[in-house]
Parts: sequence; C-alpha cells; structure tokens
Amino acid sequence: MLRIGITGGIGSGKTTVCRIFASLGIPVYNADQRAKWLMSNDKELIEAIKSLFGPEAYYENGQLNRQHLSDIIFSEPKKREQLNAIVHPAVWQDGDRWNAEHPDAPYTLKEAALIFESGGHKHLNKVIVITAPEDLRITRVVRRDGVERAAVKARIAAQMPESEKVSRADFVIFNDGHQMLIPQVLQIHRQLIAMSGGEAG
Ligand code: ATP
Repeated sequence: MLRIGITGGIGSGKTTVCRIFASLGIPVYNADQRAKWLMSNDKELIEAIKSLFGPEAYYENGQLNRQHLSDIIFSEPKKREQLNAIVHPAVWQDGDRWNAEHPDAPYTLKEAALIFESGGHKHLNKVIVITAPEDLRITRVVRRDGVERAAVKARIAAQMPESEKVSRADFVIFNDGHQMLIPQVLQIHRQLIAMSGGEAG
C-alpha cells in the first residue's frame, strides 16, 4: 500500500480536496486533528508534554491548556521545537497503526499542514501539494472563519512559502477557482492506483 501525503498552506483547499479523495473510497487521516486528540488522550505523550511545560499544561479535567502552550511556544522557539520533536513521532506512530487498519486500500492519504517542515515526507511515498493564489486563500478563509484578513496574512507569512512546497511536490493540484478540482483528483487517483499495481474502480 502506498502512503501519500497531502498538504498546502492555510485555505489552499486541503479539506475540500480530501473530501473528493474520500468519495473515491480512499482512507484519509487528518494529522492535525489527530495530533490534537493525541495530546489530550495519549498517556505517554501527555507525560512528555507535562515534563516539558509543567503540570499546568493540562486543566484539572485532563484537557490540554492550549493557551499556556501557545504562550510559551510563541516566546520560546526552542520549546516549540521540543514540542514538535515529541508530537510528530507520536502522530507518525499513530498513523502507522491507522494504516494497518486499511490493508486493502491501494493507497492512503495523510492530510497535514506541515509535511515538509516536520520531515513527514520521509515516511511517505509521494506528496500532493494544493496551491491557490494567496489573495483567494485569504478571501476563502475570511469567509469560512469570519476572521480578519490581517490575521490570515500573518499565518500565511509564518508558513513555508507555497512556491517551495510546490517545487518539492510529486503532484500539484491547482485550486485557483478556474481549474476544476474533480478532474485533477481523478487524474492523480488513476496514477496512484497504477503505481500501487491495482486498477481504478
Ligand atoms: P486550513 O489550512 O485552514 O485547514 P484548508 O486547506 O483545509 O484550510 P479548505 O477548508 O478546504 O482549506 O478551504 C478553505 C475554504 O475555501 C472552505 O470554506 C472551502 O469550502 C472553500 N473552497 C476551497 N476550495 C474551493 C473552490 N474550489 N471553490 C469554492 N470554494 C472553495
């Protein structure tokens, strides 16, 4: 079974594209959602986070105190690296377990905002990058989340430049509002099915 990563900057259309792959029967793992879940539920990871950030990293009810973590990470970049160094391997391990639950899939998709940045591409056979013009991405996120344009711009500025992601991609999906998504997904799907040695349904 092939392991395929899918990434793109904020508002590029990761969720939208993954829905199309899912409608073709391809299992999709959302690494960002899963990371959040693991940080509040995985005992080993919780212990590691507590030893890094102190017991106040969790509320009494066991939920992660995200504000506490973001405050520290924002002011201490080294802590951010240390947190990533424990969370990323936990997510990859979890992803391996999840993959094992889909032995019959020709390929699985791992959706993550950070694939190249986290070194995750080393665990993957191919990476798909979704790209869209920055202005359109900002407009879509403002409409979706009701946030300020400046806030979206700041988040984009903190991410790896999209051009770099595109240059490292094995497949690129253009979500520019002109090129249709479904035909692009179908073309990649067929190629991946062929690579996996199966036949597209
Ligand atoms: P994030 O990084 O914030 O998780 P994302 O990459 O998952 O974002 P989506 O949520 O898929 O991006 O898309 C952002 C918004 O733009 C959503 O509201 C989505 O419905 C809309 N959108 C995405 N692609 C298109 C498109 N081709 N046509 C119209 N709307 C779109």
